[in-house]
Amino acid sequence: MSADLVLINASVQSMNPRQPIFQAVAIRKNKIVKVGTNQEIKTLIGETTKIIDLNGKTIVPGLIDTHIHVADFGKCLLWLDLTRAKSIKELQNLLRKKAKQTPSGCWIIGRGWNPDRFKEKRFLNISDLDVAAPNNPVIFYHETAMICAVNSVALKLAGITVETPGPSGGTVDKNLKTGKLTGILRDSAINMVWKVVPDPREDELLDATALACQKLVEAGLTSVHWIMLSENEISIIKKLHDEGRLLVRVNVIVPIEFLEKTVGFPTSDNLMLHVGGSLIAVDGYLDSKTAALSKPYSNDPNNNGKLLYTTQSLSTSIGRVLAKGFQPIVQAMGDKAVDTALNAIEQMAKQASGKSVRFRIEQAALLNSQLAKRLKTQKIVVSVQPKVIATEFSVWSATENLGIERAKWLHPLRTLLNEGVKVVGGSDCPMEPLNPLLGIEAAVLREDFPEQRLSVKEALYMYTIDAAYSSGEEALKGTIEVGKLADLVVLSHNPMDTPTNEIKNINVEMTVVDGKVVYSKYS
Ligand SMILES: [Zn+2]
Repeated sequence: MSADLVLINASVQSMNPRQPIFQAVAIRKNKIVKVGTNQEIKTLIGETTKIIDLNGKTIVPGLIDTHIHVADFGKCLLWLDLTRAKSIKELQNLLRKKAKQTPSGCWIIGRGWNPDRFKEKRFLNISDLDVAAPNNPVIFYHETAMICAVNSVALKLAGITVETPGPSGGTVDKNLKTGKLTGILRDSAINMVWKVVPDPREDELLDATALACQKLVEAGLTSVHWIMLSENEISIIKKLHDEGRLLVRVNVIVPIEFLEKTVGFPTSDNLMLHVGGSLIAVDGYLDSKTAALSKPYSNDPNNNGKLLYTTQSLSTSIGRVLAKGFQPIVQAMGDKAVDTALNAIEQMAKQASGKSVRFRIEQAALLNSQLAKRLKTQKIVVSVQPKVIATEFSVWSATENLGIERAKWLHPLRTLLNEGVKVVGGSDCPMEPLNPLLGIEAAVLREDFPEQRLSVKEALYMYTIDAAYSSGEEALKGTIEVGKLADLVVLSHNPMDTPTNEIKNINVEMTVVDGKVVYSKYS
């Protein structure tokens, strides 16, 4: 029987160690039916076969993002993208244009400005925004999302005046000379304005999330582990699935709080959409010093962070997730939290003996050699976001919070791989950019701790076969092999032959999901 689609003249990087590189792939329906030389594949070309000559371009398995918040990414797409504004004037022009299309009184939200990129080399201020949008409330997030610029209308709606005291953990900036508000809000002060910004309407959110899905395939993603943040995503995911607008395979990860609300989702044999796991957060975050540590923060001697579960209560929650037939995904940041997660998992694994349960720890950010060994013994998958790791070292100083000796054990990916622990990669989009190649580059560069660098191939495993393994789907996807699902991506260049700091610039030229071309630069 002939193939439906053949891709020839390519450099196929299969990620299958038994047959790593070949020239061509044949697809019938949603499966890969043959791999090999151009000559071998040509035997499957029939009258109706679509042939794409790739002229030496690279094919890799469809990329898998193991940690992404798609609905929130969609929300951000409704916002003005300020990342390219090279001057305050340019930013004002963007705002003026948006204000013209927005009814007066309606909010204008933007993200991604950074004074380092502005020709003027200064912060935005209230009058910059007032001039460009006098009739709309405006809130523009700085690139780090820890700082916002707002205009006078926004301050008025939030009831903030020069007399309003700043909240604990945040500041409302004032001009040192005049005492007037500058429009800059920092940290928790942002919420004083953000809390009065209305949520987008459901139809707006639906379209925005569909647009986000389109961006996923444009970025070369064919599967995502969609970590839900709010309950209304349940109906959005279902609707987009019914309308055929998801485009990628979605493994939904529900927070434990919504565990009982997943009724009506397709079951796990649905290869396009199912609930895969449930997330249980055992502690907070390192930057806010709420991650649970065994010894206090170096710059805060009375603070060890906080555990949200005991071993016993965590075991009970893991038991609830297992009873539903989902994968327990324990989010643990500090070493104390990872220890607690391991205690509970060790306990539950004994009870589940015989059954194969694949446990996963999200982050496992701060480790030590003992914890790394226990991760290996329990065959736990560690899920990280390499671009977030890079940001942790640049935006806030991990070394300051943890001290240099402990900071060396922050996301020790090389050490974990050497131990034989499977590590998988995601973006945490929209907190960080979507581009999976940026994550691969960050895992390879690892600028602050070069001894923890991975090879390009190892980083690619994190987004392909190992990511598939993390959800128990390694027999279905993650490599380009006969019999596997036809999920693959055509790249402009081979990441393994590209200078490391240019991997992020490789273009995605075509994405195939379930045998269908869902994105292509060629047609
Ligand atoms: Zn996240």
